[in-house]
Amino acid sequence: MNVQELSSKRPDVLVVGAGNAALCSAISAHEQGANVLIIEAAPLDERGGNSFFTGGAFRFAYDGVDDLRGVSAALDEENLENIDFGTYTTDQYFDDMYELTQYRTDPELCEVLVRNSLETAKWFARQGVELRPGLGRQAFKVDGKFKFWGGLALHISGGGPAMMEALYKNAERRGIEIIYDCPAQSLIQEGGRVVGVGARLRGEPVDIRAGAVVLACGGFESNPEMRANYLGQGWDMAKVRGTRFNMGQGLKMALAIGAKPHGNWSGCHSVAWDVNAPPTGDLTVGDQFQKHNYPFGIMVNAKGERYVDEGANFHSHTYAKYGGEILKQPGMFAWQVFDSKVSHLLRSEYRIRRVTKAESDTLEGLAEQLEGVNPKQFLETVRAFNDACRSDVPFNPNILDGRGTSGLQIDKTNWANALDTPPYHAYHVTTGVTFTFGGLKVTPEAEVEDSYSGVVKGLYAAGEMVGGLFFQNYASGTGLMSGATFGRLAGAGAARFAQQAKAA
Ligand SMILES: Cc1cc2nc3c(=O)[nH]c(=O)nc-3n(C[C@H](O)[C@H](O)[C@H](O)COP(=O)(O)OP(=O)(O)OC[C@H]3O[C@@H](n4cnc5c(N)ncnc54)[C@H](O)[C@@H]3O)c2cc1C
Repeated sequence: MNVQELSSKRPDVLVVGAGNAALCSAISAHEQGANVLIIEAAPLDERGGNSFFTGGAFRFAYDGVDDLRGVSAALDEENLENIDFGTYTTDQYFDDMYELTQYRTDPELCEVLVRNSLETAKWFARQGVELRPGLGRQAFKVDGKFKFWGGLALHISGGGPAMMEALYKNAERRGIEIIYDCPAQSLIQEGGRVVGVGARLRGEPVDIRAGAVVLACGGFESNPEMRANYLGQGWDMAKVRGTRFNMGQGLKMALAIGAKPHGNWSGCHSVAWDVNAPPTGDLTVGDQFQKHNYPFGIMVNAKGERYVDEGANFHSHTYAKYGGEILKQPGMFAWQVFDSKVSHLLRSEYRIRRVTKAESDTLEGLAEQLEGVNPKQFLETVRAFNDACRSDVPFNPNILDGRGTSGLQIDKTNWANALDTPPYHAYHVTTGVTFTFGGLKVTPEAEVEDSYSGVVKGLYAAGEMVGGLFFQNYASGTGLMSGATFGRLAGAGAARFAQQAKAA
């Protein structure tokens, strides 16, 4: 494909980006009868966006196993006798969204996300994405039975790579073409509506005209300049967990034509990430540089001190804000420390080859290996922590067990076990940025709103580009759900708009 061929395409719907939100938009627009074209900044061998890097957590409301069966055919093959899925009602989902965002989530958009989530999950599965119970991730085996917690019963089987493969295959079957190495640069407006995109195909400028445009090209997490400007001092130094291509260009080009900014522009999702991980995501490692099991141990900073309540809640409710806490520590690092009592609870990410780990049979030996940490204070911290652990409450990783500490400056609320059983092991982490929370204001139909009045006609947005859903914190598995929900709406809306514009 050369520039002339591309500029003569004139699809009904032009989708910018080729991650989860974009593919859902494209498929949905095609379902409405639209002719669809996708342009993607990355070359083919780096495609998939942040969506490729995901472990596949997918949050939706369900009232019981029957709802789950509607999403996962695999449930019929599973022996469900020893699995307690419980429920995750829309009310529970709303509670999580409101509590975690400190009641700041946009009520209208949150309503769209939560109320449509089960239907969206079913639609997603119909597109060829396979979901299975997340045993061992969101449910531990206690007394021979798995019990789910945290609202994430089903995971995308094979994670992001398998999900994106299924979506690409689907698009291919539909004849939806994806043009790689083609970053969008600007939006073209005519007669009061968006009629296309200015882009660069392998470096050569090209205008692509379309009936409507869907922006699904991510946040600004990969752009250190924008991170420093919006998130604040130090954020330019953070590592990026996912794609290197989400440079915020989609946001810039929408704001440049008057789109309305919305949400938490100074906030982002970030996690504990291996201190020696590369600056941006490595497609061969995916999300495995993350270290999410800190609720079963303690975290110390360079001073050898604990700095947060590691057991405040399930990791799925704290991990997205605790990443940013590391950035505030001296030297921007922390160590997660465990003893062997909990080793079996740690996820596969603690056992990868490229892990920065220390191990010793004694706490003193471990203290010497914790690079950058004051060893004397570390030993004092562990001694005080061990003394403060309540032993009268049984440990149970499947519930908020209330087995806390008492009397410490920062108490641990749940899952507090004395570090007393060697070998001791520790993991060196820094902040890894996942995605940024600030975005565009969209209507419940995913149309981009104008800063002053009405909508930007012919422009839709989905995925990370939608602002207003997340503030300061986030419930795991919501990013993919938001991308699928608003992607589906954006695609359908754009198709309708293009058809009406054509008819007019
Ligand atoms: C390591 C990791 C693990 C995660 N795990 C989970 C999880 O388990 N569950 C969950 O729900 N969420 C998870 N997330 C978050 C999730 O990935 C995102 O919320 C979601 O995938 C975003 O989808 P998207 O389509 O908006 O963006 P992306 O998937 O990032 O897609 C955006 C696409 O746009 C392209 N692009 C950027 N700029 C341009 C341009 N100017 N022109 C054309 N194309 C452009 C990019 O190359 C990219 O392909 C994780 C993220 C990471 C990084």
